[in-house]
Amino acid sequence: VIASAIDFAALKIDALLVSAAPNIRYLSGFTGSNALLLVTTDSKVLFTDPRYTLQAAQQCSCAVRIVKKMPLSAALAQNLGRRKLRRIGFEKSRLSYGDYELLKERLPLGAGLRPVGGAVDALRMVKSADEIARIRRSVQTNSDAFAAAVKMVKPGVSESDIAAELEYRMRLLGAERPAFETIVAAGARTALPHAQPAHNKLNANDLLLIDVGACQDGYSSDMTRMLFLGRPGPKIRAIYDAVLKAQLAALEVVREGVTAQKVDAAARRVLKAEGLEKEFVHSTGHGLGLEIHEPPRIGKKDKTRLQAGMAITIEPGAYIRGLGGVRIEDTVVVTKNGCEVLTPTPKELMLL
Ligand code: ZN
Ligand code: ZN
Repeated sequence: VIASAIDFAALKIDALLVSAAPNIRYLSGFTGSNALLLVTTDSKVLFTDPRYTLQAAQQCSCAVRIVKKMPLSAALAQNLGRRKLRRIGFEKSRLSYGDYELLKERLPLGAGLRPVGGAVDALRMVKSADEIARIRRSVQTNSDAFAAAVKMVKPGVSESDIAAELEYRMRLLGAERPAFETIVAAGARTALPHAQPAHNKLNANDLLLIDVGACQDGYSSDMTRMLFLGRPGPKIRAIYDAVLKAQLAALEVVREGVTAQKVDAAARRVLKAEGLEKEFVHSTGHGLGLEIHEPPRIGKKDKTRLQAGMAITIEPGAYIRGLGGVRIEDTVVVTKNGCEVLTPTPKELMLL
């Protein structure tokens, strides 16, 4: 990745201090937990601690400074002084106030800190062919883990048993970890969009929501599927059909040049017509990649124009207290004329 894609002139900065781990990874390849990256138009320097001497040498092609006996930000401030860099951009939503204070204290005379919003995150929106290949593998692992874990779903098994099985399976299949806390919710608990798996046992005639994602080779996948332990009544069936219709309507709109909000509106329009507008309490989707939630947000207000190579989710839902909720989610890649749905798992309501 070329740092020259960052517009230093427009941002009115001489250097950008990158502190968010996924952004550091994106620009340098480094995956350690403690690092700062200083980027200028023609250089990149990674600051990390002695635990990562070998790892940084293996992963980074840029300059590496191993910092001993002082905070990374102090070493970075010294480096700024030597190189006469004055206007230092920092990631305003990604640097803690404590680090900001420390850095400000140690800055060389005449240098100042300037807040920058999302410069690297914007670069990350459109994925390279290599990144898409990784997302594709992550999606495959996720769906294979789902197919294996679904075999254990039956009355008497708990939500957390299923979550554990999903996460165990995805690890066996090559993932390094789940991309987020696996959501498994049964019965009326499906009305909680982000339910945490509990030890309650599944019953016959329970609706079951599983929202699961793998992180493989650094890249996320994200899928939600619905199951039913028996035969659903007309109410659940109606909500399911409405959400599926909304999901397909949103997928139909996705293509290069369309705004994120237009995709969201397509899903919302369907659910409004079905009388479920107020039950759709989140946005239609989100970008994903090195992080599970990245720009763009497929929501009411996001005017970002979709570009070929963006990886996003499409996941409308409707949630009714006391009854249950339905969400259907795929990971897709935007193309010139539409999109490719990467998720291979069928999305009919799975009856067990
Ligand atoms: Zn999800
Ligand atoms: Zn999602």
